[in-house]
Amino acid sequence: MQSNPGADGFFGEYGGQFLPQPIKVILNQLAATFEASIQDPAFVREFESYLKDYSGRPTPLYFCRNLTSQLGGAKIYLKREDLNHLGAHKINNTIGQILLAKRMGKKRIIAETGAGQHGVATSATAALMGMECTIYMGAEDMKRQRHNVFRMEMLGARVVPAMSGQQTLKEAVDEAIAAWVGDIDNSFYLLGSAVGPHPYPTMVKYFQSVISKEAREQILEKEGRLPDYLVACVGGGSNAIGMFAEFIKDEKVKLHGVEPSGRSMNLGDHAASLTTGTPGILHGFNSYMIKDHEGGPGPVYSIAAGLDYPSVGPEHSFLKDMGRAQYFTASDQDAVNAFFALSRTEGIVPALESAHAVAHAMNLAPTLGREEIIVVNLSGRGDKDVAQMEEMLANGTIVQPEG
Ligand SMILES: *Cc1c(COP(=O)(O)O)cnc(C)c1O
Repeated sequence: MQSNPGADGFFGEYGGQFLPQPIKVILNQLAATFEASIQDPAFVREFESYLKDYSGRPTPLYFCRNLTSQLGGAKIYLKREDLNHLGAHKINNTIGQILLAKRMGKKRIIAETGAGQHGVATSATAALMGMECTIYMGAEDMKRQRHNVFRMEMLGARVVPAMSGQQTLKEAVDEAIAAWVGDIDNSFYLLGSAVGPHPYPTMVKYFQSVISKEAREQILEKEGRLPDYLVACVGGGSNAIGMFAEFIKDEKVKLHGVEPSGRSMNLGDHAASLTTGTPGILHGFNSYMIKDHEGGPGPVYSIAAGLDYPSVGPEHSFLKDMGRAQYFTASDQDAVNAFFALSRTEGIVPALESAHAVAHAMNLAPTLGREEIIVVNLSGRGDKDVAQMEEMLANGTIVQPEG
């Protein structure tokens, strides 16, 4: 199976550009620049050189000997995206998009951020390229993530609070889009996940597909064959689509995305868009979406702030409907258990987002034979989550697993 959008940016019925005509014109210019750039060896060379020398790629593919023998089933490998500069996969995408912005002669970068991770990666790359940078962040998120606000400011960005609605990620996107539209000739909207109107899902997939390009070569070198399963957590879906990209054509490789089921499956307690949502349009694209009782975007929650968005990248909706990928859930407590398990067996502290993928792999491995292979995308490191874990353990929101 192939999974590429048509010229109109639709993956089946998902994706598209549900925006006013003047914005579509700008997006189509961006799409044209992107298509031309990835055909230009000089652009590709520059992108690859920043990935290597700035972010430290290639990231290793690590065999979890201890965890595998403890679980007694399939071999578990980790693709170590946590070892990138700034500790997550997000930098792959911000480097790619900022090079496009530079090509287009833009002077100013606008971005949204939820927990602050995309804002930090964007601020760093804007500093690197000498560009002005404005980050929109929900006022509520700014209170919860004061550290990341300070990091962005340290990197030279201006952080603007989004004051509407729930004052979280959705509102930050609304206000960032409005700011971009108000300064559209001068500014570039640097989107943080494989969501949004065409061409963003396609661009983000391209920049993140370095993950699966490397992983494919690395597993062939280590095992002489392709893996049986790929597992990745799904927020907007960028690390997952980057992990899946080069394997979509290999029908035997099973693709598992893992969404957060949070505290419960009740509306407002989770962010499992593909598992519980229905198709709907948000922020200019059609995809599975969590809805409130009026059909608008519903409230979302996850222990992992990087996973709480009420929609999801359109290609994942398409892969789900086609049956090419399957989507599962892991709860807050599952993620916490996996966070401790990986820390204690391998000495690797995962991001709480990535811990959702680890949790799923830990359930899956014992049901499989010892010759089978699971590759988990470890999207980020958990240092950013240590203070939150300490607080939640102290006030009893979560419990520490035995052992
Ligand atoms: C932001 C983030 C995610 C979620 O975003 P995707 O676009 O779904 O990949 C996952 N893991 C980490 C470490 C993150 O920072």
